[in-house]
Amino acid sequence: MGNYQICDFCGNLYAKTVGKMCGDCERNYHRLRDIIVAHPGMTVLELSNHTGITVRKILTFVERGFFIMREGTIEERQ
Ligand SMILES: [Zn+2]
Repeated sequence: MGNYQICDFCGNLYAKTVGKMCGDCERNYHRLRDIIVAHPGMTVLELSNHTGITVRKILTFVERGFFIMREGTIEERQ
């Protein structure tokens, strides 16, 4: 199991990389980030509906400091 690690975000086992998350989560992160930059002020629910990424997953990114949540809207970390 040396070449695998468990993703901090979704709990999937994935081949070890330099990143902290698996490829799926990294793709989700970049999708969210692109939308947040292009459409600031979206709520978690709007983001979820727009991307198909679950609210729970988006909040996990917030909890880990990848995004900032302010009064329900998600912002890019400065
Ligand atoms: Zn993952």
